[in-house]
Amino acid sequence: MSGNARGKRKKGETSKTGRDEDASGSQGPPVKKARSTSVAKDKGKEKATKTPWPEYFNELYKIFKALNTVLAFCSSRKQLATTFPVVRSSVEALLKQPLDLQKVAELKALLPDVIKFAYIPQNELRVHESSQKRSKSPDYGSALTPRRELQGFDDNEHVLVLDFIEVKPKAKKLERLPVETLIPSPALTPAGVKKLIEIRNQRFETAVEELLQAAAECGETPDFLVQGAAREHIPVNPSTIKALASTSQTGPTQHKVPSPEERRSISEIIEELQNLDWYKEQIISRRTTEAREPTLGHLDTSPSENIMKALEATRNIDSFYSHQAEAINSLAKGSHVIVSTSTASGKSVIYQVPVLMQLERDRHATAIFVYPTKALAQDQKVAFQQLASACVGLEDLQVHTYDGDTPQDQRAGIRDNASVIFTNFDMIHASILPHEDNWRRFLKNLKIFAVDELHYYTGLLGSHVAFIMRRFRRVCAAVGNRHARFVSCSATISNPRQHMKNIFGVDDIDVITNDGAPSGPKDFVIWNPPLVDLAEPSLGRESTMLQATALMRYLMKNGIRTIMFCKIRKVCELAMKTLRTELTSEGRLDILEKVMAYRGGYSQSDRRRIEREAFGGHLLGIVATNALELGVDIGTLDAVIMLGFPFNVASMRQQSGRAGRRSRDALAILVTDSTPTDQHYVQYPDDLFSARSDDLVVELEGRAVLESHLQCAAHEMPLSDEDAQYFGELFHPICESQLVRDKQGWYHPNPKFLPHPAKHVSIRGVEEERYTVIDVTNSQTGGAAGSKILEEIEFSRALFETYEGGFIHQGLTYIVREVSHDDRIAKLVRSDVNWTTKPRDFTDIDAAQTYRIKCVQGSPYHTYYGRVEIQTIVFGFFKLRGSQILDTVFLETPPFHRETMGWWVDIPRNTLNVMRSKGINAAEAIHAAEHAIMNCFAMQQDIKTECKVAAKEYRRDPSERKRPARLIFYDAQGQGSVAAARAFDHGWSSLSSFFCNYKQLPGSALMQDALERTEACDCENGCLRCTKSTWCKEGNEVSSKVGALIVLRSLLDLPLRLDEIPDAPYLIDPLMETVVEATQVRALDDIEVEPTT
Ligand SMILES: [Zn+2]
Ligand SMILES: [Zn+2]
Repeated sequence: MSGNARGKRKKGETSKTGRDEDASGSQGPPVKKARSTSVAKDKGKEKATKTPWPEYFNELYKIFKALNTVLAFCSSRKQLATTFPVVRSSVEALLKQPLDLQKVAELKALLPDVIKFAYIPQNELRVHESSQKRSKSPDYGSALTPRRELQGFDDNEHVLVLDFIEVKPKAKKLERLPVETLIPSPALTPAGVKKLIEIRNQRFETAVEELLQAAAECGETPDFLVQGAAREHIPVNPSTIKALASTSQTGPTQHKVPSPEERRSISEIIEELQNLDWYKEQIISRRTTEAREPTLGHLDTSPSENIMKALEATRNIDSFYSHQAEAINSLAKGSHVIVSTSTASGKSVIYQVPVLMQLERDRHATAIFVYPTKALAQDQKVAFQQLASACVGLEDLQVHTYDGDTPQDQRAGIRDNASVIFTNFDMIHASILPHEDNWRRFLKNLKIFAVDELHYYTGLLGSHVAFIMRRFRRVCAAVGNRHARFVSCSATISNPRQHMKNIFGVDDIDVITNDGAPSGPKDFVIWNPPLVDLAEPSLGRESTMLQATALMRYLMKNGIRTIMFCKIRKVCELAMKTLRTELTSEGRLDILEKVMAYRGGYSQSDRRRIEREAFGGHLLGIVATNALELGVDIGTLDAVIMLGFPFNVASMRQQSGRAGRRSRDALAILVTDSTPTDQHYVQYPDDLFSARSDDLVVELEGRAVLESHLQCAAHEMPLSDEDAQYFGELFHPICESQLVRDKQGWYHPNPKFLPHPAKHVSIRGVEEERYTVIDVTNSQTGGAAGSKILEEIEFSRALFETYEGGFIHQGLTYIVREVSHDDRIAKLVRSDVNWTTKPRDFTDIDAAQTYRIKCVQGSPYHTYYGRVEIQTIVFGFFKLRGSQILDTVFLETPPFHRETMGWWVDIPRNTLNVMRSKGINAAEAIHAAEHAIMNCFAMQQDIKTECKVAAKEYRRDPSERKRPARLIFYDAQGQGSVAAARAFDHGWSSLSSFFCNYKQLPGSALMQDALERTEACDCENGCLRCTKSTWCKEGNEVSSKVGALIVLRSLLDLPLRLDEIPDAPYLIDPLMETVVEATQVRALDDIEVEPTT
């Protein structure tokens, strides 16, 4: 509410500074800019008839006037540094009353764009300091006592500055937003000074007038609005946070955070939470899982005394849980093993102990441990090395990481001497297998191949890994090793045996799912933010962000170590910023010091540092993206807060599993958003628990992926007919058509892939170009000196985050000063702005050229497969405070253009007519049908669709960007993926046989499945089980179940059952429609419609 009042005022104000006047005229959809500008001007004229101000504002004005006078004076003597202590003493001398920080913050809240009140690096001030020595005593000299204060901050890196923000008059160009400058303005004449004072006083009056009016409109008390907003403006000194926090720890403090040992139980805390005054029945579901006692197991062959001693010494282990014992026994008798249990159940012991036992028997034995990320591998390597070196007889074991960061000059040594390597599939694919001749010693002696986090390898990545493993087994067999055992650990997955078999291609697998590790009791809570106004549900719910951060602060104050998961990086930073603001205004710098954000994009050294601090128990809170979902060891946490439902159930389980230590109680809270997805789980909380984890899909019949790996395999060692045992039925046809056969019958790679076939296969999709984000706050010239690299981000992100608005890092705001798309560099300066930005963009997914056409049997329609062009344009951004739009800025940024493959089907004209007659919004129908189809597609994570945006579809004015009436799906990872082709082939070819015998087809028909599922679903307007998806980019807001049914039935040429749908009471204005009939896409020459067999 307060944001509302300020927002209205701000719009007028901004236009006065001249920031956007030329921007808004240039391009993009219209905004209400012009109107608010005129409102502001009218208000100026109304001034004569104004009602008297409340006393509070008169008081504030008095302070402002004094400040104005002092600062105007300072600016006329540019050598005066406007540090807060200097300015304060002058103002106090004029006012004859103290000036406290809070009052200045209130002024700043009222005029955020006019007043600068922030800490700046001290060296920025040195320029002024040195020149000051030459200055004479000014007129207000008695009041100004600059020297003493200036000397006072020798030890601090930052100084608090209070000044007016100056806007460079030339900074009007679109690509150069004015940057707040701290350089004092050129010296003014006395008349100039007077004029300046008048203008600024006028600004103050206007701001108050607008605020009073806005407050009256929404029935708020204006003083409260300002005082509330001022909390956000109390500056935080970055360099003293640490000092303050540490003194507050040693000194007598009124707040004390309980240590992990002293903290109260989770149930006591939940109890107390419900008695707080901000508790308004937010907890809509609470489930408690009982504590579990440990179950110990027995080893058939005990490890040696040396190994047991090392385990005891390094990990405090003197016995084995049942699942550990079972797995070690299985490996010992020669089976392959998969252990699928909850997180933190001591899985690494399962493969590390057998490796040590092997090495005691045979010092030539080798082992490979594979992890999905380098960070995990390095983490685990350190732990294993400690264990090995504590083991008498194995102290000098050669244990190495072998990843992309391993220096070239060390690689040969590792190949020749290592007993155990910690690596990843990327290295096996691109480095180890292509150079198998260098690895023969290692491969011949390989006893155990362990893969941690096996559930990570699914979808397209899983398919690549499955073929890499087949290549690996083939090479091992060729060097005479057929006895290596495969062991893997995964989170709880629905079919561990099948997944293990798919990835490794082996039978003879023992599956272990009984978790013998103990665990404390655990609460799972769904927390739904309350309605803003109970009597008026249309006003929506309170902010998810504020609720989640309030919970986090509450938990941390109670000594509950908490991690908050956010879905995207931007939200992660906003949450950190919110925590920073709130903890500061509460004076809890002791807690603020112990909270950090952690996400992808941070430099590796920053991430390692945060992990170390978390692991060492220094942190009380972490705000993270799913970058921390995988098992990087950050020590034990007591609570998990999920800010919005993560993209899928598996992710949610993974995240909530992050909390909990063996013997202590733990808490997981899902703070729901207002999106249909989240509200679905509010309505059906059981769905969260009953849903089976999504099946992991590994596609072994994808022709393109298989072919690329056959080219690699043939390069490693020529292929022969025997190798069909590894690669399946498609082996022969692909070798015959795509590889080169010599006279002896061996297959060699097609020369077009030489000399390095592996380089043609990107197992994690196409790597994007990266932009370097540089903090140039401390560099005078904007050049390299004094600047610091903050992040490296992908182009697609750079586009959304480094436009010339705001950027956030560790919850601290930056202004983007310059983006060079040629050099891929974004330069930022640190600036305490109290707004954030949100990009405004659209993405067009356009079918560009048809490569294949299929006929849908029994239906007159065709489906198409071909090249798809994707174009994203960021055309501007909103400046936001909370969810309130303060300003709208337009930008010119280059379009982000990509190409990929996809399949599509056009909606017939008569279907569009039918929908129009029934008053059904075609965009809603298409979007819902697309989701219904994708919900039935097993590789859905690898394809995407064109999600419809509410802001566009429900606009009041005619759309200029009408989209073709088409269901379209494309490969998320770019060309070289196979998912869209699979959907095209499977979905539609089996669809055509649906009418004979569809149920027997393993691939099943996507369209038919989608229709059946949607018709069978008893929801009214579509739900996550039918036409909505958890991962919808636009939160499923534009969606019509009835519409989806019409689209699906008409494409399948089934009766539309229109009599069940009432006619539209009014006709949709064709001008307002955002969808138009699709025109056929240009096809390659000579393609024929493929028969439907
Ligand atoms: Zn969507
Ligand atoms: Zn439904």
